Amino acid sequence: MTTTKKIHKIGVLTSGGDSPGMNAAIRAVVRIGIHHGLEVYGIRRGYAGLMEKEIEKMHLGSVSNIIQRGGTILKTARSEEFKTPEGRKKAAAVLKEFGIDALVVIGGDGTFRGATDLNKECGILVIGLPGTIDNDVYGTDFTIGYDTAINTALSAIDKIRDTATAHSRIFFVEVMGRDVGFIALEVGVAGGAEEILIPETPTDLDGICTRVQEGRARGKSSMIIVVAEGDEAGGAFDIAEKIKGKIGGDYRVCVLGHVQRGGSPTARDRVLASKLGAAAVEGLLAGKTNVMAGEINGKVVFTPVNETWEKKKKIDMELDRIAKILAK
Ligand code: ADP
Repeated sequence: MTTTKKIHKIGVLTSGGDSPGMNAAIRAVVRIGIHHGLEVYGIRRGYAGLMEKEIEKMHLGSVSNIIQRGGTILKTARSEEFKTPEGRKKAAAVLKEFGIDALVVIGGDGTFRGATDLNKECGILVIGLPGTIDNDVYGTDFTIGYDTAINTALSAIDKIRDTATAHSRIFFVEVMGRDVGFIALEVGVAGGAEEILIPETPTDLDGICTRVQEGRARGKSSMIIVVAEGDEAGGAFDIAEKIKGKIGGDYRVCVLGHVQRGGSPTARDRVLASKLGAAAVEGLLAGKTNVMAGEINGKVVFTPVNETWEKKKKIDMELDRIAKILAK
């Protein structure tokens, strides 16, 4: 995972699902790179744009006034072609044509799978930055965008609680997380949810019904049930129907959806993106490649890029235990 190759030109791209703070990461890569005398090239639309040569040289001013903006100025995309060896060969040939020595990829586990293959098959030097709202990347405590996403979801839940209380209603709020419950668990705890349903733990619908009925008997008239979209018992609509079928009642469902992806990044996400963006470039210059720059216990840590998706980051089961006690 080290190289002695002298690096003069680097490329940077954002790929897969966008997340707030990607722009702050691009800004850091460009400015730290230029500071160290590198030429930095922005690649538009992720791996798809790389194969199509959508590449432009970046200057200090190219990243002005973006640290506070959500989305990604480089745009992002998903590419089926890049999942094939031919697609990756094409991408590697483009990098060679432009004389780009190393590639900084900002994205989630899919992006890092692609980066792993690009290195293995074509020898391209890659370095990753974790940019996804899902927080499901091994090798970093938090991904860039996660803090903004949970705060966005939390502000929605606080508002929903107002109307739930006013109308004495039970609300099922679905948050993002196809495979993992990081957002649901932390938003549920922060929002004082009565139930938090995540894919990592079995969902006991009868248990929920019992607790809803016990709550009602104690005079609790409104409740918030947070559901991760990938919960094994179904989405929020399915689960609400099932519970209605079992014990009746008046339920409302709110699927937060893509609002969780957008918006101005929080201070935490901007700082994380700046720190990791700098670490990626300076790591490359120090000879580190085929790793992802992450932050663990406040320190920058480089993890082999294949491990970021081969290994699974675990949910905090202690927080799950506490959440159940607090949700009375
Ligand atoms: P994310 O990086 O947010 O997880 P995706 O899963 O959509 O987003 O992945 C982004 C891109 O990375 C895909 O469109 C594809 O080009 C590439 N990619 C994803 N999975 C693989 C894979 N198994 N092999 C090679 N490339 C992949």
